[in-house]
Amino acid sequence: MRWHRMLRSRGRSGRGLIYHERDPGRLAIVKACVLASSSAGNSIFLATEKTRVLVDAGINRKETFARLAAIGEDPGRLDAIFITHEHTDHISGLPVISRALGGRVPVFATHGTAPLLDWGNSPAPPVETFQAGAAFDFRDLRVQSFTLPHDATDPVGYTFTAQGIKIAIATDLGYLPESVKYHLRGAHFLLLESNHHPELLKVGPYPWHLKQRILSRNGHLSNDAACEYIASELPGETQWLVLGHLSEQNNTIWEAELSARQALRRRGLEPRLVVVEPRRQSEVFLL
Ligand SMILES: [Zn+2]
Ligand SMILES: [Zn+2]
Repeated sequence: MRWHRMLRSRGRSGRGLIYHERDPGRLAIVKACVLASSSAGNSIFLATEKTRVLVDAGINRKETFARLAAIGEDPGRLDAIFITHEHTDHISGLPVISRALGGRVPVFATHGTAPLLDWGNSPAPPVETFQAGAAFDFRDLRVQSFTLPHDATDPVGYTFTAQGIKIAIATDLGYLPESVKYHLRGAHFLLLESNHHPELLKVGPYPWHLKQRILSRNGHLSNDAACEYIASELPGETQWLVLGHLSEQNNTIWEAELSARQALRRRGLEPRLVVVEPRRQSEVFLL
């Protein structure tokens, strides 16, 4: 009974249809949940009526499945896993998750990333490779990949569009080039990196070479860079602005949220703003 109530209150999509929490009569097109977002692990769940996918698998199988269950989702019903890049915080759970799903769930990765996926003792699942920047259909999702400036081999961000609802995921990037901003246009849901507060990073405990790496144009997006974008070019369509991949050492939820609120005020937009706490699962977003 408790389980049943939980399913109903978390935007159930188990039977296909997704109901809004506060308005049970209204159907949502997309259900999203950031299962984890930080350098300790990244994984994002997206579902439509017909399709359930993960973007990245950077937390272990047990935690991934528990977090899916907590939002009323059966891991056994996942249809695909999309990988952004080969850094451990994005793929560490992949081989075991893939094996637990019977090796049947296709994994999508760029031509450059796919050969770097390590399946360990697990049999490799079907891996669908694509050119970074390519767009393609997966079931009822229109998938658009775009290259990110990041110190990985062939990293991409993604947008997923279903029935006119556009979800954009852009973390792990040193800055926001025009080409990335172009793909974020029209996003109704945007997960954007707000990695560090540059002053906290400079005085923080990281060794010099790591600070240089994070601050470089192939590193991670600072609060300031995220806010510059929010204040000038955040799409007017954005209903949910979700800040993620926060550094646990060089940022605080409070700093990231305060500066984003100020930037939103400057821009004159009022999307719902959520900052994902490192290692914690976000709320469920229904669009
Ligand atoms: Zn990362
Ligand atoms: Zn990375």
